Amino acid sequence: MAKKGRVFSGARPTGRLHLGNYLGAVKNYVALQDDYDCVYCIVDLHALTTVEDTENLKQNSFEMALDFLAAGIRPEETIVFVQSHVPQVTELHMILSMVTPLGKLTDLPTFKEKVRQQPENINYGLVGYPVLMTADIVLYKSNFVPVGIDQAPHLEFAREIVRSFNHRYGTKVLIEPQIKTTEVPKVLGIDGKEKMSKSLNNHIEMAATPAETKARVMEMVTDPARIKRTDPGNPDVCNVFTMHKVFSSGSEVEMVNVECRRAGIGCVECKALLAKNLNSDLEPFRARREELALRPDTVRDVLEDGAKRARTIAEQTMQEVRKAVGLP
Ligand code: SF4
Repeated sequence: MAKKGRVFSGARPTGRLHLGNYLGAVKNYVALQDDYDCVYCIVDLHALTTVEDTENLKQNSFEMALDFLAAGIRPEETIVFVQSHVPQVTELHMILSMVTPLGKLTDLPTFKEKVRQQPENINYGLVGYPVLMTADIVLYKSNFVPVGIDQAPHLEFAREIVRSFNHRYGTKVLIEPQIKTTEVPKVLGIDGKEKMSKSLNNHIEMAATPAETKARVMEMVTDPARIKRTDPGNPDVCNVFTMHKVFSSGSEVEMVNVECRRAGIGCVECKALLAKNLNSDLEPFRARREELALRPDTVRDVLEDGAKRARTIAEQTMQEVRKAVGLP
């Protein structure tokens, strides 16, 4: 069946996936393969802007690729690769930086946020991050980038850079990527407050054992107003209930919704049910992951083949870009 265009997405190599990564991005990556020609990149160069200790970068990239494959990314169709294995991206980054106003980059809320988070490490790479991101997308002539609505301004900026390049050099070589808005569920961590994230240690790892998973679920913060077992709860403010909606059956969700409000079910019982459903949902992923982990060369081959296919497209684009710019 003919595909509807090319989708590109990049993921920072943070190591093993957690539920937030999976529900917020990777599940969608898998689904998009049915209709689009997909290019998924593990963005190790981007990681250098915030990671100073690079000792785990290689292993984290490998683990991420392993998780992608276990989750259902099909490397025979989809290109999966590591960003730094395609050096053309740094060349395009440099060329695009010439058509990107510095003031706009330093005004971006994401840059200001990073300055606040790591005042001791405000590096040049942080300023140019959106330019490298644009280079990633356009190097592969991508038509769509799947982003949550909160990410849309970043892509709009990438589109501006593309327009600026095409206008400056009187060309149509670069394609303006379209936003493919996706319904990204907001996955909170086990603290029930912040977005799930490894750095906040409020995550549940996809590849954790069933016992580890259950222990993390039992730690989850529930409705803060429900102090005693006999207090009625409010599932609408409880992250456990939000997760039930993803991992439990319709009748179980309804049961929790009703029984929680009249203190018919306690939080311990409610969490145990969630842990059971979560573990059974993750079972096939874990089995595939374990099987693949025994064949690390297969994963490395996938990355090598992905990089080769990505470089072919990238070099084609760069030949057109160099010509448009007038480089001798
Ligand atoms: S019973 Fe379940 S939904 Fe209700 S507050 Fe407790 S954990 Fe949350």
